[in-house]
Amino acid sequence: MIQTPFWVADFPRPPGIGESDLPSRTDYLIVGSGLTGLAAGLRLIASGSSVVVIDSGDIAGGASSINGGMVSPDVKAGMRAVEARYGPQLATEIWNASVRSVDIVLDLCRQYSVDALVNRDGLAALALTESDVPKFVETVRWYQERYGVRWEVLEKDRVGEITGSDHFAGALYEPEGFGLHPARYAFGLARAFADQGGALVAQCAATSIERSSAGFRVETTRGPVEAGDVIVATNGYTAYEPLPDLRRRIVPIGSYIIVTEPLEPSAASEVFPRNAMTYTRRRLLHYMRRTPDGRILIGGRRNLKTGLPLEESAADLRAALVRYFPQLASAEITHAWGGKLAVPFDLTPHMGRIDGVWYAVGYAGHGVGLSTLLGHNLAGMLLGEEQTSPFARIPHQGRFYYRGEPWFLGAASLLYRSLDKIGI
Ligand SMILES: Cc1cc2nc3c(=O)[nH]c(=O)nc-3n(C[C@H](O)[C@H](O)[C@H](O)COP(=O)(O)OP(=O)(O)OC[C@H]3O[C@@H](n4cnc5c(N)ncnc54)[C@H](O)[C@@H]3O)c2cc1C
Repeated sequence: MIQTPFWVADFPRPPGIGESDLPSRTDYLIVGSGLTGLAAGLRLIASGSSVVVIDSGDIAGGASSINGGMVSPDVKAGMRAVEARYGPQLATEIWNASVRSVDIVLDLCRQYSVDALVNRDGLAALALTESDVPKFVETVRWYQERYGVRWEVLEKDRVGEITGSDHFAGALYEPEGFGLHPARYAFGLARAFADQGGALVAQCAATSIERSSAGFRVETTRGPVEAGDVIVATNGYTAYEPLPDLRRRIVPIGSYIIVTEPLEPSAASEVFPRNAMTYTRRRLLHYMRRTPDGRILIGGRRNLKTGLPLEESAADLRAALVRYFPQLASAEITHAWGGKLAVPFDLTPHMGRIDGVWYAVGYAGHGVGLSTLLGHNLAGMLLGEEQTSPFARIPHQGRFYYRGEPWFLGAASLLYRSLDKIGI
């Protein structure tokens, strides 16, 4: 088993990406080269401005090139919670934005000729118990009334259309969901940004940001940069530097993935006949899909902590995979890896400003589309082409008991495991 992301092994980072020199001045400096930073960079560079994207690691080496590659509308909190917290007007705006976040991924792929191996076969939530199915029916009714969705609940007798496992009691199918190859998508955007003259600087961490006559002076591990505006796009990899207040508003969570060896085409389509992206309806959920080359991918976590030993996470995930699909007991697991996501306390993404510095974070595992959208919108706001975003108008708060060290994740994992076991 190789402890490296399958996606990046399958589609390595293009040569030369990230090797730009760090200029001493720029119109816009973006800290973090994932989808948020790249989408913002692409829109800013198209306006004729100078733009530099720096990353403390490799370009798009955070979550953006290694995730499950599943794209669908909605936010992690679910719209019912969003409506209860922020009211129907903002909820509708957030829903519409989440629908747009699906389209913008496809639009950018078309605009910049990125071949992200998109498969538009939908996304399905899988019911682990019979009691999940009426909840699916109720969910569809609620979303249908508000937003006119075309989702479908498949009962036990039809769940075989989605998955060839006896384990699941039903499914909620969303036809507009789709899958892509995350490394192809993220590196494709990086390539497009560089082709338009954007500077991508890898292995360059921002350590502090201060106001200056030019706008901001950003200290980095490769020297200082003067920038007119700064965007921090560090999501799950946000540390105390360069914006300590941001770290206190999001909790970094670990997510882990394994893939099998490529299966015979008939075996792969027996596991997921419709080739839909899937996930289980649980707090500590599993997400599963076929890869374009016919592997089965499963991701998730038993424990919310980051940096857990990969062997243990891989063993947990393999046990779950074989529980769902006993026919995969002898399939070799070829790759295992993990990454970090950022979870805000309201499970809804946020953009805003801290001491004049813009940021967009907090996609909570639902970020392929939303990070692209928030990066794009944030750039539009900086250029004066967009007025605001619903994600900028909801309050982004921390908690009095949280200073940036998530000491409660072990206990929260235990609680979630118990609630998941009894199905509430
Ligand atoms: C294992 C896994 C599976 C996932 N699966 C899905 C999925 O199937 N569908 C979905 O919608 N979402 C998924 N997500 C979430 C999604 O990948 C993220 O929400 C999205 O990629 C976030 O993009 P980003 O650009 O905001 O952050 P990231 O891509 O994480 O990029 C942040 C970057 O900031 C850099 N950085 C941090 N600090 C500094 C600093 N001081 N200076 C310079 N650079 C810095 C980091 O090195 C990193 O490259 C998954 C996430 C993980 C980890």
